[in-house]
Amino acid sequence: MADLYVDGEWRDPVAGGRREIRCPADGSPVATVSEATRADAEAAVVAARRAFDEGPWPRTPERERGALLLRTADLVERDAKEFARAESLDTGKRLVESEYDIADVVSCLRYYGGIGGVDAGRVVDTGREDAVSRVVYEPVGVCALITPWNYPLLQASWKVAPALLAGNTVVLKPSELTPSTSVLLMRALHEAGLPAGAANLVLGAGPEAGAPLAEHPDVDMVSFTGGLETGRRIMATAAATVKKVALELGGKNPNVVFADADFETAVDFALTAVFLHSGQVCSAGARLIVEDRLHDRLVDEIVRRARRIRLGGPFDPDAETGALISARHRDKVEAYVAAGLAEGAVLRCGGERPADPALSGGHYYPPTVLDECRQDMRVVHEESFGPVLTVERFTDEDDAVRIANDTEYGLAGAVWTQDAGRAQRVARRLRHGTVWINDYHPYVPQAEWGGFGHSGVGRELGRTGLDEYREPKHIWQNIQPRPQRWFRG
Ligand code: NAD
Repeated sequence: MADLYVDGEWRDPVAGGRREIRCPADGSPVATVSEATRADAEAAVVAARRAFDEGPWPRTPERERGALLLRTADLVERDAKEFARAESLDTGKRLVESEYDIADVVSCLRYYGGIGGVDAGRVVDTGREDAVSRVVYEPVGVCALITPWNYPLLQASWKVAPALLAGNTVVLKPSELTPSTSVLLMRALHEAGLPAGAANLVLGAGPEAGAPLAEHPDVDMVSFTGGLETGRRIMATAAATVKKVALELGGKNPNVVFADADFETAVDFALTAVFLHSGQVCSAGARLIVEDRLHDRLVDEIVRRARRIRLGGPFDPDAETGALISARHRDKVEAYVAAGLAEGAVLRCGGERPADPALSGGHYYPPTVLDECRQDMRVVHEESFGPVLTVERFTDEDDAVRIANDTEYGLAGAVWTQDAGRAQRVARRLRHGTVWINDYHPYVPQAEWGGFGHSGVGRELGRTGLDEYREPKHIWQNIQPRPQRWFRG
C-alpha cells in the first residue's frame, strides 16, 4: 500500500525502497512500509511550501484550524483500538500502555484544538494619540517534524497539533522503526478535511529521509525529538539556512528520596519512574538519589520488587513491561551495565538477558539495579535509555540538590519528602524542566514540557509549545499621517 502522504495523496517512494517492520517482542513481521529517500523528502517539502505560499491553510481562521484538530481528535478516538494495536506492534509496548498513549494523543489534539482563536495577539500602548500598535501571530512557514520511536504518535502529536493550529504546513518524518501510527494520523487528518499539502508524511531512515528536511532551504523550522547526538547534528545542519530549531533531547533524571518520604509509595514510584516502558522514556527516573540513612531499606525493597517484574509481549495479559526496541539498543544497554560494573557499581538484580525460552525471540532485558554508584560513572551520567537504575546516596538537602543537578541534561526529576517546605525548596533548586513532588511521570498538555541544558531547546505543550510555531509580528499604524520634517530641506 502506498504510504507516503504528499500533497494530499498516498504515494510510493520514487526509488521504490521498502522496509520490513518487525515486532520487538518476538521478531514477527508487522508491516512492509516505504523507505523514502531524498527525492521523496524534497517532494514533500515542495508540496508543503506550495500549500504554505498559495494554499488556504495559513489563511484559514485559527478557530477553524482548531475545529479541524477537534475533528481529528474524534477520529483518532473512534479508531483508538487500531491506533493502539499498531503502536504496540511497532514498539513492543504493552497494549494498555499504547491505549494510554493514544488517549494522550487525543487530549493533545483537543487541547490545541480548543484554544484555537482565543489569542488574537495584543494591543500595545504606543503612548501617542496618533498611532495604534498591535502584536499578531503569523505561522513560521514550512515545519519539518522529526520524531523518535519510544512514544511515536504521542511525540508526533505534540508537534503536529500546535504547528497546524498556528497555520504552518508540515512534513512529518517519524522514526523508521515505528512508522505505522503516523500513517494512521495522516489518514485521520485527511478524513477531517485538511487541505492538500498542509501535512505531509515521509517514512524512512534519518540520514536519507530526515537530513534532507533539515538541509532544505524551503524549510523554515525543524522540530526534533530524539537523541542528543542527532539533535546536535540537526542543529548544525539547520544553522546553514538559519532555520528556527526546537529540540527535545534526552534526560538523565534524578529521583531524590528523603528519609521521611512515605516508604511504600516512594518504592512503588521508584519502580515506575525507571522501569515503565523498560526505561525507554526520556524522563525516566534512572538515577535514584537516596538519603544515606534510608538507603539499605529502600534499595532492598526496590530490588525485591524489581526481580518480580514480568516481561512479555504487548498482548500477554500477565506482562508488566516489554522488550527493548531493537537488538542494537539492547546491546547498548548491556554495554552501559558492563561499563558500570567495571567502574565499581554493585549489581543488585538483573544484568543478564532473561533465560526464559518464551522470551528468546524478543529484545528483552530485565530490570537492573546498580548500587553504590558515583556521578563520574558513564552509566550514571549518560543516557542508557533502558531498564537500568543507578543508586547514589546523599547526606543532606544541599548534597541531594548538588548530585541531582550534576548532569549535562535537565529534563525532569522528582523529590520525595513529607516536609512541604523542603519539597518546595528542592523543587525550585532543581535545574530540570519538570519537577514532581511525591509523584513521578504525570504531565498534562496544558503545561510546558522540555529541558534545561542538553535536554533541548524550547518547549513543547502549553502556550509556549504553540509559540514555538508562531512568529510574533508588530503592526504599527499612524492614524494621522503628516510630514515629520526630520530633514528640513
Ligand atoms: P534518534 O536521534 O536516533 O532518532 C530520532 C529521529 O531522528 C528518527 O526519526 C530518526 O530517523 C531521525 N534522524 C536520525 N538521524 C538523522 C539525521 N541525521 N537527520 C535528520 N533526522 C535524523 O532517537 P531515537 O533513538 O529514535 O529516540 C530516542 C531518544 O529520543 C532518546 O535519547 C530520548 O531521550 C529522546 N526522547 C526525548 C524526548 C523529550 O521529550 N525530550 C521524548 C522522547 C524521546
